[in-house]
Amino acid sequence: MSWKIKKNVLDSILAFSKSFYPNEFSALLFCDLDTHVIKDIYFLPGTYSNDHSAYLRLDLAPMSLSLVGSIHSHPTGKGKPSLADLNFFSSKDINIITYFPFCLDCYECYNSKGEKISLEIVD
Ligand SMILES: [Zn+2]
Repeated sequence: MSWKIKKNVLDSILAFSKSFYPNEFSALLFCDLDTHVIKDIYFLPGTYSNDHSAYLRLDLAPMSLSLVGSIHSHPTGKGKPSLADLNFFSSKDINIITYFPFCLDCYECYNSKGEKISLEIVD
């Protein structure tokens, strides 16, 4: 089953990525495990970011089985995951990287193994 994302959530992700620029934006994603739809963004308290990395306080994440996704932005304009990204991805089912200039299709999607996967936009 392929992953889907609600259009308003994707719009918000791109808008936040833009507003955090030139720093990185990062958050977790709430996903519906039955339908594989990404339905909400979760901002971790204490998240720190600069122009090349973001530090997530995963110890402050709520214990929720549906918190299986991550999003972060690349202010550099490339959607390729770094080694640190790939390490982090392994704990999440779905990982989105947005990249400068954060246009409507300026994002890539990866599974826990760091393989590029497709993302369907739904209403
Ligand atoms: Zn990254």
